[in-house]
Amino acid sequence: MPQILMYFFIIIVLLFSRAAIADNVDYDKELDTIEQSLKTDIGYAIEKIDIALSSESFLTSPQHSRLYMLLGTKNLYLGHFLEADKALDKALTYDPLGEELTNIYLLKITANIGLSNYKKAFALLEDNLSRIDSYQDQSIKIMSYIRLMNVYLQLDAYEEMLRIAQLALSLNQGKDSKSECFSMLYHSVAHLKLTHFDQAETLFTDTQLYCKNHGFPLIEIMSIKGKANVLFDKGLYAEAEPFYLEALERYQKFQFQIEINEIQSYLSSIYFHLGDYQQADMFAKLVNALPNKPSNMQVKKRVNEILSLIAGKRGQFDKAYQYQVVASALGQQLIDEQKIKENAYQMARFDSVEKNRENTSLIQDHELLMKQKDLFMKEKSSSIMFSTLLVGLSVGLLLLLISAWMQRNQFMKQAQRDGLTGIFNRRTGQEMAENEFIQAQMLGESFSVLLMDLDLFKNINDQYGHATGDWVLKKVTHVIGEVLKPTHIFTRMGGEEFALFMPKQTEDIAVEFAEQIRNAVANINTRFSGHDFTVTVSCGVSSVDKDDLSLDPLIRRADLALYKAKHNGRNCVICYNDTIK
Ligand code: GH3
Ligand code: MG
Ligand code: MG
Repeated sequence: MPQILMYFFIIIVLLFSRAAIADNVDYDKELDTIEQSLKTDIGYAIEKIDIALSSESFLTSPQHSRLYMLLGTKNLYLGHFLEADKALDKALTYDPLGEELTNIYLLKITANIGLSNYKKAFALLEDNLSRIDSYQDQSIKIMSYIRLMNVYLQLDAYEEMLRIAQLALSLNQGKDSKSECFSMLYHSVAHLKLTHFDQAETLFTDTQLYCKNHGFPLIEIMSIKGKANVLFDKGLYAEAEPFYLEALERYQKFQFQIEINEIQSYLSSIYFHLGDYQQADMFAKLVNALPNKPSNMQVKKRVNEILSLIAGKRGQFDKAYQYQVVASALGQQLIDEQKIKENAYQMARFDSVEKNRENTSLIQDHELLMKQKDLFMKEKSSSIMFSTLLVGLSVGLLLLLISAWMQRNQFMKQAQRDGLTGIFNRRTGQEMAENEFIQAQMLGESFSVLLMDLDLFKNINDQYGHATGDWVLKKVTHVIGEVLKPTHIFTRMGGEEFALFMPKQTEDIAVEFAEQIRNAVANINTRFSGHDFTVTVSCGVSSVDKDDLSLDPLIRRADLALYKAKHNGRNCVICYNDTIK
């Protein structure tokens, strides 16, 4: 995933743009090497971090906090958010100062967003905000506002976003062009989201011009697209078209795929409304060919609706119905995503009274600040530390904006996974499978389901304890994970029951695969758990029938086959069709 790598790469640049202050030259050099290799060779960095951790007792306090910050960064890089948060907490125990402390907090915010822990992320953000306040440097303050806006945007909290945007703009007053450019864009987006169309249109135009003149081409393109979105939302399709086309062409140079997909979906809709069904169809099919992953759900839903409308216009009502079914299924998933976000927002809202109070005091601080401005400016220009931090933050900000969608995916991922094993939870797995099932039925392809239940698992818990039981569950998912194909949807259905949904796979292939899994599980070496016993699994297989209207009958048949497998003495694979013969 190159974008994610880029995201963390820049986060790391953000963190480590500063040269180490040498105290103990050797260890500082080691830490420098780790920083460097985190950007280029994560494997080597991991090795080096382990070595450094083993000679911990030789490190000074600042070296200690730096090492744990690096460990935290590594874990963020790998998507291990909990471990990252723990390492960063440990770094904090060594009393880091100034910018290092700021950076640790910013990393902690990233980790908590990754953990869907919005409330904590908010608290940290505010903590950081009030602490950064003590820098008495308003540029850094503005940067923090921009970060805060980004979190609000992710939570769809547009009123708050607007308030902070106005605050940032009034503090900055055009002094720092990067901050101005970002704040202007957020300001415009907030108005668009709040359906203040006229204001949004003017603001996007202003932002486009400003960012163009100050050399921020990506923000300039985002503003062009923003303007197109305003016109689209107003139903002015012919007016929106040229702006989308311009943005599309320019995004293509940046290969900014997620934005390209979105614009193509809008263009499909525009051409439909303008009566050019051929163009509409062409763009819709481009988007519909994207893989079924959460970040593509919205655009795929949009184009399936268009495809359905086009089919309707052409009198192909069967096709129209089928596209509508896919669009509705995608819509349901989006509603679920919305629910997760709303919950988090409610939690975050909890603190909003406190936040308002803090913002009022920040405005008062600002009055004071303005009076002391000259002094601060002198201090600032004499301090390389500030400017370095500023550059680092600005780079990070661009990425924060670009990566808003990536973080959304990350939240989704967390909510979709089972906590113990890391595979899909029942709701998500079944929903994804249902989607694939509909497509398979539409195209007349096969589809198989494999249900698995560990044998006499209760005995393992009773004899060796729950921790060993957990070890087995993780080991089993790991072993199965190793043989999975990319199209397989592997799901924990609950307890010691798993399902494997296999799009496009025939019954014979599914049975063969089940046999392979059964074998792999039986061969698990349990000695690493500290005990010696055997694990086996019983499997039930079923495949799609042309009369199946949903996934449910398929799962029910696999369950009956599984029941039979248990009855036959366990540790075996039974196929539903064989049980009725
Ligand atoms: P059978 O072969 O008939 O399936 O026997 P079984 O013992 O596996 O079946 P049963 O349904 O009686 O027991 C399942 C056990 O799984 C009961 C429950 O305590 C245990 N279990 C469920 N979830 C977890 C978990 O997350 N961790 C651990 N350690 N045990 C779990
Ligand atoms: Mg069971
Ligand atoms: Mg069982």
